[in-house]
Amino acid sequence: MSGITRRMLMTGVAGLGAAAVMPRWLHASVQLGDWQIDTLSDGNLVLPADFILGPMPAEEVAPILARHGLAAGEPLTPPCNVTLLRGQGRTVLFDAGSGLAFQPSVGELPDALDALGVDPGDVTDVVFTHAHPDHLWGALDDFDEAMFYNARHYMGAGELDYWRDPETVNTIGTARQAFVIGAARRLEILGDMVERFEHGDEVLPGVTAVLTPGHTPGHMAFAVGNMMILGDAIGNHHVGFEAPGLPSGSDQDQALAAETRLALLDRIVADDMTLIGFHLPGGGIGRAERMDGAYRFVPEI
Ligand SMILES: [Zn+2]
Repeated sequence: MSGITRRMLMTGVAGLGAAAVMPRWLHASVQLGDWQIDTLSDGNLVLPADFILGPMPAEEVAPILARHGLAAGEPLTPPCNVTLLRGQGRTVLFDAGSGLAFQPSVGELPDALDALGVDPGDVTDVVFTHAHPDHLWGALDDFDEAMFYNARHYMGAGELDYWRDPETVNTIGTARQAFVIGAARRLEILGDMVERFEHGDEVLPGVTAVLTPGHTPGHMAFAVGNMMILGDAIGNHHVGFEAPGLPSGSDQDQALAAETRLALLDRIVADDMTLIGFHLPGGGIGRAERMDGAYRFVPEI
């Protein structure tokens, strides 16, 4: 079955329809040195509000949510933006999306790539920020084979070790056990296709890994020139920027994640960096500005 996926067959049948709705997937596009950078939509998650906001003081969060038109207690529907870098003879994805096994409202990355004329076999590198379902599970196709079958895959060494450790399922807590089983199975199937890297490594020419732990134990962001690909180190555009020191329920180590968020925001503003967030709106590309002792997200597009 090398190279043929059920998804590709379906895409072929649905080709005309896909062209008609192409803008839905291609969110944002910028040029950075040699790289053409596009963010592609994998769809959006649907999360109970408490999944993120649960540990936060309600009175502190309410005005922030109101400012962003979000009603307290309503489910959150964060977008999922996969970053595509093209240049230097490479086609690079940052994270692989959810695939079809996680939630019904995600798994659209293959359609987004198809709309851009990128075949899964064209992808040369898949660089993971972390091993959560919405970032890793799309690395396999519907036949449980590598979706990006010609690509080298890269994951931070600490992250890879954590999710491959047979003890993790016993220590992570019941709420996240399915994440462990899902990640371990996919990493096992990908096997030798996955290479490890450390903080500070140049994973690809001009792409430097930045250890940003807390959301997961070995989460990595990536500095590309003056741009920071954040993954989930800053996981939303509201409380993540406007109350970055508050504990978030979506982070595995809430205190460490808050520390990471504050340090990242400080660096991004000090160095006047552009950022791309996996779960930020408008394609996820923007900037951070200081506001009232915290920050705010300013979309670029
Ligand atoms: Zn995520």
